[in-house]
Amino acid sequence: MAKIPVGILGATGMVGQQYVALLADHPWFEVRYAAASPRSAGKKYAEAVAGRWHATGGVPHPSVWGLVVEDAGDVSKALAAAKRGDCAFVFSALEMGKDETGSLEEAYAASGIPVVSNASAHRWTEDVPMLIAEVNPQHADIIPAQQKNRGWGAGFIAVKPNCSIQSYMTPVWALMRAGYEIKRMIVTTLQAVSGAGYPGVASLDMIDNIVPYIGGEEEKSEREPLKILGSISGAKIENYRGLEISAHCNRVAVIDGHTACVSLEFGAGKPSVEEAKKIWAAFRALPQELGFPLAPEQPIIVREEADRPQPRKDRGAGKAMAVSVGRIRPCNVFDLRFVGLSHNTVRGAAGGGILNAELLKAKGYIG
Ligand code: NAP
Repeated sequence: MAKIPVGILGATGMVGQQYVALLADHPWFEVRYAAASPRSAGKKYAEAVAGRWHATGGVPHPSVWGLVVEDAGDVSKALAAAKRGDCAFVFSALEMGKDETGSLEEAYAASGIPVVSNASAHRWTEDVPMLIAEVNPQHADIIPAQQKNRGWGAGFIAVKPNCSIQSYMTPVWALMRAGYEIKRMIVTTLQAVSGAGYPGVASLDMIDNIVPYIGGEEEKSEREPLKILGSISGAKIENYRGLEISAHCNRVAVIDGHTACVSLEFGAGKPSVEEAKKIWAAFRALPQELGFPLAPEQPIIVREEADRPQPRKDRGAGKAMAVSVGRIRPCNVFDLRFVGLSHNTVRGAAGGGILNAELLKAKGYIG
């Protein structure tokens, strides 16, 4: 099967680099177009990332190293690449202000180029699906309505949620899918510095320190799960209304891997600790059933050790695409508590975006 040619907007950034690394040997997709800010435009990719290559994982394919980076602000360049057969869709990993990113992503979609985005700009756009492939793959089916509404032809926008949410949303959904109503959730996140891009938070603020504030993060953590758990109604996604969330988000001196300490209050039926562990260990969803290339074999890994999960030891679990859960125990105030952990620039960013693209290809929206 010929690989689908893809472009990366923001290819030189923290998340863009992770896309390049993760797509190096991808069986379905091949990076043939790279774009970033005017600062990088015109340089070869290797030159544009020299001295700031931070991605974990595979060494990028030599063909990407030699690509000339284009200006992501100039959609006509991507359109020309699309016409040459070098860009069937783009991954967006742009960091340029919410309104500018949102308008630019719309311009790509309007020109017929599908956008699979990491940015937050369209997470609250009613006809844009916010996908975690194991949780709400059915939301992708709003895409024909989005295309029709906007007159975008083959173009569309699909997004993934905030990176920290991925470290607990799949376990939360697994319990709901098993029939347990969750009424309230308190989550405290301990988020890695790579979540702020490069150079990110100043080292003098991070070493020997915790910063108990990440702009906009608590609001995202409290709202985004409600859209993910929502349902399609006509041409929009209506939020789930049955769950209240309170979030505390902290930046900690960890390079990669977001940790979340979660307490859950259930409705009438409450799972025991042993039942929750069984549900999580057995959980499989569409990406596993259809064997998507980047899907972790086991999306939720239950750790029995008293002191796990830990970022350094567990962020690479399941190709860095699995969520590790541990410290599963009764909660004295709510019902059940646990610690979740996932790799923020892989599962929470580029890997999650690629898994979404695999889902969109399987559903026939790209390719
Ligand atoms: P980053 O390291 O700061 O990279 C930003 C990218 O955007 C670079 O390629 C940069 O190009 C490009 N860019 C900046 N200004 C631009 C402009 N005016 N026009 C065109 N391109 C421009 O940021 P990041 O951490 O990779 O994050 C990228 C996106 O993913 C953000 O929307 C972020 O919220 C989201 N996200 C990040 C994470 C994470 O863990 N880091 C997780 C989930 C989602 P130059 O290199 O040329 O400056």
